[in-house]
Amino acid sequence: MEHPENSSEYAGLQVNAGVAQPSIVNPYLSKIRKKRHQLYSPGEYVEGILKGDVSMLSQAVTLIESVLPDHQALAQEVIEKCLPYSGNSVRIGISGVPGAGKSTSIDAFGTHLLRDYGGKLAVLAIDPSSEKTKGSILGDKTRMEKLAVHPKSFIRPSPTAGSLGGVARKTRETIILCEAAGYNHIFVETVGVGQSETACHSMVDYFLLIQLAGTGDELQGIKRGIMEIADGIVINKADGENVEKAKLAASHFRNALHLFPMPDSGVLPEVRCYSGFYETGIDEILKMVFDYVDKVKDNGYFQYRRNEQSKYWMYESVNERLKSDFYNNSKISEMLKATEAGVLGGKVTSFVAAKKLLDTYYEGLRNT
Ligand code: GDP
Repeated sequence: MEHPENSSEYAGLQVNAGVAQPSIVNPYLSKIRKKRHQLYSPGEYVEGILKGDVSMLSQAVTLIESVLPDHQALAQEVIEKCLPYSGNSVRIGISGVPGAGKSTSIDAFGTHLLRDYGGKLAVLAIDPSSEKTKGSILGDKTRMEKLAVHPKSFIRPSPTAGSLGGVARKTRETIILCEAAGYNHIFVETVGVGQSETACHSMVDYFLLIQLAGTGDELQGIKRGIMEIADGIVINKADGENVEKAKLAASHFRNALHLFPMPDSGVLPEVRCYSGFYETGIDEILKMVFDYVDKVKDNGYFQYRRNEQSKYWMYESVNERLKSDFYNNSKISEMLKATEAGVLGGKVTSFVAAKKLLDTYYEGLRNT
């Protein structure tokens, strides 16, 4: 058909007909997809995981991350069957603001750990922003060059889920599968902003905070209460001209830590300087972590903390389920917008509106 802009009205403009392009869709993709989505029975997943089969482990983790109800049901069955084989690991949370050097440090910590302590290492992540960015920067393999090709490591980027609670739960469930697959060291990376640190703290045995010298973060950390949950503080980039500044920052942290009461663990947090990039001071940090683990295993705090975490996750799961059942209820979603408008328009108070919604929900439950 003649292009409308070739009419004489558009003097000096000539539009040529285009050339048909081949389809941009790879015709083999659907075949590959099908293969990848093949599902196994719960027993098959568990058998593969217990054998340490990385492909089976990855596929089971994908089920945990899936939003499809039948995938979720399958995942829960696999998790339950793996539970008796889990728990036999040291779980270490690693947190720091973006740019603090988390990926670089995890690469260095991980390779030194596997070299000196043996075993297997899984690196997981909690990144609540991954939903927005459609892909997580935490747990990114390309940023952990050495670990990514290490035969004893398993790296998994953060799951994406609507809420921080959802992301954190999936990571916690993934820990169980990794432990059943024989990973006796687990790193959980998280970004040092907002609530994700608390979520990470609720699933690890040791919480390591990475800080930088001279960024003013020292004080922010204290303000946000992060220091109370840190079991150890490490100052990265203590290399070149930065060494003295890092030492100074470390002494500030040590002084600040003295202002806090003795933690429940009975072990005072230590402060160390290191360079993730030049791999200096790494072995001292690993020793600090494992000394802590030895102490808390001796004094009983290790098990106490894990029990407390299990309790916390029981309540978290109940809360999450109640919330999602409520908001996914068809009657509630029908009413929600109008009720919200009523509150915004000042026609009804928040409390009356909430009561009406809840009453409707429970009445619906009674009638089913
Ligand atoms: P993340 O965002 O916390 O994961 O930080 P990255 O590991 O991506 O590091 C951020 C930047 O800091 C990168 O350019 C790294 O090369 C650099 N970096 C990380 N560790 C060190 C270190 O020990 N010394 C120096 N000088 N630079 C580092």
